[in-house]
Amino acid sequence: MPRWKLTTEFTFDSAHYIKDYDGPCGRMHGHSYRVQVEATSNQLHPSEHCPHPVMVADFRSLRWAKKDVTKGGLDHGVLNEILPPEYETTAEMIAKYIYDVTKKRVPEGVKLKVRVSETTNSWVEYEDDDS
Ligand SMILES: [Zn+2]
Repeated sequence: MPRWKLTTEFTFDSAHYIKDYDGPCGRMHGHSYRVQVEATSNQLHPSEHCPHPVMVADFRSLRWAKKDVTKGGLDHGVLNEILPPEYETTAEMIAKYIYDVTKKRVPEGVKLKVRVSETTNSWVEYEDDDS
């Protein structure tokens, strides 16, 4: 079936440490996280800001994590203090957290893929099952 795929990319800067990690990642340090969010759908929807069914999902609902931590995003915060305790602050779990929060903000039926990078040469992906 034909479908639309939106992709948006943004960065945020935050501090974190990996609990009980025996090595440098266990000490507080920072990253410029790069995030890509893909939203796929075979139908279009209205959004909070537009009453007409003309978009897969509002780009604003895909880019919330870029906002300052005091405004509900992840920028310039300590991820260990922002993420609920069931999420560790590995790139894997940051991707899952962004996925989980974004999923609640996009219309039902929109498939998501979230990629997170802490460094220029490594990425993690978390996505909906295609089956
Ligand atoms: Zn790190």
